[in-house]
Amino acid sequence: MRGKLSVAAVAVIGILFCVIGTGQAQEKEKAAAKRIAVRAGRLIDGKSDSAVANALILVENDRIVSVSAGGTAPAGVEVVDLSKATVLPGLIDTHTHLLLNGDITSEDYDVQLLKQSIPYRAILSARNARIALEHGFTAMRDLETEGAMYADVDIKNAIANGEVPGPRMQVATRAMTPTGMYPLLGYSWELQVPKGVQYVDGVDGARKAVREQVMYGADWIKYYSDRKYHFEADGVLHSMVNFTDEEAKAIVDETHRLGKKVAAHAIGSDGIAAALRAGVDTIEHGDGLTDALIDEIARKGVYWVPTITVGAYVAPGRGGNWTKMVDLEKAAFQKALKKNVKIALGTDAGGFDWKELNQAKEFEYYANYGMTPMQAIRSGTVVAAELLGWSDKMGTIEAGKWADLVAVSGDPLKDITELERVKFVMKGGLVYKNEIH
Ligand SMILES: [Zn+2]
Repeated sequence: MRGKLSVAAVAVIGILFCVIGTGQAQEKEKAAAKRIAVRAGRLIDGKSDSAVANALILVENDRIVSVSAGGTAPAGVEVVDLSKATVLPGLIDTHTHLLLNGDITSEDYDVQLLKQSIPYRAILSARNARIALEHGFTAMRDLETEGAMYADVDIKNAIANGEVPGPRMQVATRAMTPTGMYPLLGYSWELQVPKGVQYVDGVDGARKAVREQVMYGADWIKYYSDRKYHFEADGVLHSMVNFTDEEAKAIVDETHRLGKKVAAHAIGSDGIAAALRAGVDTIEHGDGLTDALIDEIARKGVYWVPTITVGAYVAPGRGGNWTKMVDLEKAAFQKALKKNVKIALGTDAGGFDWKELNQAKEFEYYANYGMTPMQAIRSGTVVAAELLGWSDKMGTIEAGKWADLVAVSGDPLKDITELERVKFVMKGGLVYKNEIH
């Protein structure tokens, strides 16, 4: 008897509580709708060919609600005064390694895999993510962990959950080569040393590895199309192709079947040709692009991610062909630009130390190699957003998109290196940095 009464009483109280609770939640939501008005002295919105003077960007929670030339901020709304600055969309780097801290020589690389635990490397990756965000990068595609397994999925989730500051991430997890075609190599066969990638062999093995990486959180599949880059008498940069065509096609087919996309590391002409035959979505590095391959990459609408910063950075320390490769890539870049190849900004940050070099240097190279400053900015905003499949969410400053904004003091259309001195960063409506006075 007592029991029955109690159940009924609890049910009534429960219903009452639910009704009151819902009302309170709605009130709370209204109160929490945070609105900020950003006054931009100059606005590069990623769409227009020129900057707009004195624009007003209205942000509600994590989204942009409106963008207008001139106009006044609604009463009672917090105003961020960037009237002396240039505001741009958050910068996007489509080729990074948060789990790596420079690898000019093989010793630099080996020591990280042999002497640092994956948890230690993950802690450094959180530091690197913060550095990237403070440099203005509000989104990045991280293209493999270099032996740190699936730790990129963890850093991505920790950022998304608001536990640590960093850019929005898409990640590739472990990357793939066939057995024996990626370091660590050269150690005694008696030792089990870690590998920088997942070794994958055969068509069935390729499909299984894709499924496994996607199961653990890969947004992209990355594979190494080639290695051993060398010039031959024809003046073309050649390379040894890693996978058979059947294996590479199986990787691409399985990845696409699972709704994901494929990035191929391809430096020599042979590796680039093989990756294009396999049907990849992006070509990474691409130093050895010939005229015919540039035509093919343009025709197929494949993105090229040049990563010039890392090439120029490691060349002096590596010697050999690396300096020649930098010059070769510059010529390829200029031809690709004329043929309207989709060039998305990517730096290979992590290939150089995050603490030493600001990844925004890549913009400077693109401008020096023949892009207009506006084209360079678009490659690291709107074009990069397209590559990520996030065009509806980022890459431009317009109503409905995420409130990812950066600002610099000067005019990057006159001096592109302004982007290496980002003074203000907002991601999803939250201000992470403001040094504009
Ligand atoms: Zn890389």
